[in-house]
Amino acid sequence: LEQAQLARNYIPICLDRVLESCDLFFHSDPLKIVRASGQYMYDELGNQYLDCINNVCHVGHSHPYVVEAAYKQMKVLNTNNRYLHDNIVKLAKRLTETMPPKLSVVYFCNSGSEANDLAIRLSRHHTKGTEMVTLDHAYHGHIVSTMNISPYKIRKNTDGVHPYPEYVHVAPSPDIYRGKYRDCDHPGEDLGEKYANDVKDIIDKVHAKGKKMCLFIAESMQSCGGQVIFPEGYLKKVYRYVHDAGGVCIADEVQVGFGRVGSHFWSFQIQGVEPDIVTVGKPMGNGHPISAVITTKEISSSFAKCGMSYFNTYGGNPVSCAIGLAVMDVIEQEGLLQKALETGNYITEKLMELMKMFTIIGDIRGQGLFIGIDLVKDRKTREPATEEAEYVLHRMKQEYIILSTDGPYENILKMKPPMCFSLKDADNLIEKLTVALKEVEEKRKNGEFAVKAHGTDKCHNTVIDDEEEIAIQDVRPFSVETITANGPEEPADLEQEDTPTKK
Ligand code: PMP
Repeated sequence: LEQAQLARNYIPICLDRVLESCDLFFHSDPLKIVRASGQYMYDELGNQYLDCINNVCHVGHSHPYVVEAAYKQMKVLNTNNRYLHDNIVKLAKRLTETMPPKLSVVYFCNSGSEANDLAIRLSRHHTKGTEMVTLDHAYHGHIVSTMNISPYKIRKNTDGVHPYPEYVHVAPSPDIYRGKYRDCDHPGEDLGEKYANDVKDIIDKVHAKGKKMCLFIAESMQSCGGQVIFPEGYLKKVYRYVHDAGGVCIADEVQVGFGRVGSHFWSFQIQGVEPDIVTVGKPMGNGHPISAVITTKEISSSFAKCGMSYFNTYGGNPVSCAIGLAVMDVIEQEGLLQKALETGNYITEKLMELMKMFTIIGDIRGQGLFIGIDLVKDRKTREPATEEAEYVLHRMKQEYIILSTDGPYENILKMKPPMCFSLKDADNLIEKLTVALKEVEEKRKNGEFAVKAHGTDKCHNTVIDDEEEIAIQDVRPFSVETITANGPEEPADLEQEDTPTKK
């Protein structure tokens, strides 16, 4: 115990010397995790935490089969990919077998950021175009090239040093719950088409300026943007517009790939599209740094002709590839897609029951083990319940359950656990969440949370597009006028209120 206390005394030094600008979870009272197994993590005092958010340790923390594969290969050889090695070929084959046939070439790297950076390079050499379209609230990596296409970060830049480059165009995130076009404002309309038309408008403007499209990049379900499930047909239409303009479409599967959605191995498959480039990372190495870019022979050949060969010291080394292969084995052997589907559906059903009890739950959306709980102050205005979400997060931590919040207002409770998450874990989560939400209701009654979080839309943003200023109004203001345009509405029966956008 004494040692543990001593270890905690290091926290201020840690924060000061190494972690000052890092996004530490629970910053004021951070956790020191010393070991983990499956879906459980343990702190220095031996407390067990249920991990609901680690989408990197995909098949379970420290999975013995993966650890063994790494150890075995490390004992024999680790070198770079300037030599032939079976592991790199085997993993490339294994990955491409899960993809549409046209995606047949694999480049290996070490992180999601590197993979997206390489995808940008491939797109440039193939299209010879310059203009890039990204979605608002998207995150594609921490290096300069990927930060440029990450509104999630650029929106938060306060010293003005990292604006969007002129070749980056931000399209509204196709969020039908709180985006530019909301289901409640456009009943019965094809919102996939409406959002896709916004991308088409950007492409038209690009052409009007005599410029050429390079790429469109998006996750096929937006994670950092708040667990956003795209309306049906959205990506199909966008991909068509981008292809017609000579651009390439990149699917970033860094968070949402490797079977997390349960019904498919990749989340772009849900939208029925075939990307030209797919980037994968995080879950691929179960915690070990490995990522990849999968593309077509044509795009790869254009890159090969550019004169700058691809070399990456660690990318595609035999140890990383042995680990990647082991992860693919475990996903298959343990039937993790089916498990993600069953457990995910179970959690969603239970959350629906909670939604009937607590008005603070405005929306539940997700697919498989990718779930978002959108907390609202008011179901009609959909005003984000940011403080309440933070309260729930901290209460859950006290109950040894690790969740996170995300989205433009940090009001969405996020779930993306290791794929071995069980029904028993789900029951534990729901039980503790029920208690926390009850407390929130009590506190609300006592006036402990502000009635309104934001008078105006804090995420309303302005993007400089050449000489023109384009206002991105993808997040609606929460003014009373917005919701009572057709006259004041009576509060509806809880049971009949807004249903979740998607299961
Ligand atoms: N793309 C997406 C969608 C991500 O979520 C992330 C990381 N959160 C990245 C890319 C960057 O990956 P990495 O941190 O491995 O560089």
